[in-house]
Amino acid sequence: CGIVGYVSLGQVADGKKFDHSAYDVVLEGLRRQEYRGYDSAGVAVIGDEGIEFRKKSGKLVNLEAEVAANPMTESTIGIGHTRWATHGGPTDNNAHPHVVDNDRLAVVHNGIIENFAELRAELLEEGVTFLSQTDTEIAANLIASIYNKLESKDLTEAIRLASNRLEGAFTILAIHTDHPDRVVATRRNSPLVIGLGENENFLGSDVSGFIDYTKKAVEMGQDQIVTITGTDYSIIDFEGFPAHGKEFTIEWDT
Ligand code: GLU
Repeated sequence: CGIVGYVSLGQVADGKKFDHSAYDVVLEGLRRQEYRGYDSAGVAVIGDEGIEFRKKSGKLVNLEAEVAANPMTESTIGIGHTRWATHGGPTDNNAHPHVVDNDRLAVVHNGIIENFAELRAELLEEGVTFLSQTDTEIAANLIASIYNKLESKDLTEAIRLASNRLEGAFTILAIHTDHPDRVVATRRNSPLVIGLGENENFLGSDVSGFIDYTKKAVEMGQDQIVTITGTDYSIIDFEGFPAHGKEFTIEWDT
C-alpha cells in the first residue's frame, strides 16, 4: 500500500526535454515504499496518445517485466500504486490504476470506500459499466461523472465534490488527459505527503516515495486536496477553502 505521483515542467537546460521520466520516478518511489506491503502494482502516465498504463499482480518485478515487454512513453506526468487488496482479489485487472471515461481519467487509491455499494448503484443507473471488483473503480467513475457535469472542467473541483461523497479512508491520486500538467490528490484518514523539487513536484504515501529526488516536503492536514504542477502546489479543504501545509526538510539519509 503505497502511492506515488509525479509531474514536471518537462523543459530542462541544454535542450533536453526530460530530466526525469515519470515512469522512472514513480517506479523508484514504489520500490522505496515496498516495505509497506502489497500484492499488486501499477503505473499510469500521459503520453502523446493519451493515458498509458501497466498493472500486474505480484511484486514490482512483474510490473517491470511488463514495462520491459511493452515500454512506456517518456512523460512528464505519472501516478503509481502498490495495492493491498480489500475489495476484489489480487488480480491484474483489479490492480490500480483504474482508467475510466474512455481512457481519459486514471486513478490510484489506497484505503477503503465504505459506501461503495450505494455509489455503485447510482453509477449503474447512469449507465456506467464496471470492469473490476474494486471499490476504487467506483470512486474513479464517480469523479468522472462529476467532472463531466462540471461546466468549468476543473479537475480539482471534481475531486473535491467526489471527496464529499466518499465515506471511509482514502488517498486518491488522479490524472486526466484534459489536464496533462497536474496531479490532483485527496486524502481522508490515509497518508499523503508532498515533495517539492525544481520544476518538478511529487506525492508519496511517505517521504520515501520521493527521497531520491528532493529533501523538501510538505505535510498536509486531514480532509484536504492538493493539486501539483511542475512549478506549484496548492491545497484546499473539502469545503473548497484554501488550506496550508507545513513545509519541512527531510533529515534522514538514503
Ligand atoms: N480498496 C482498494 C482495493 O481493494 C485499495 C486497497 C489499497 O489500499 O491498496 O483495490
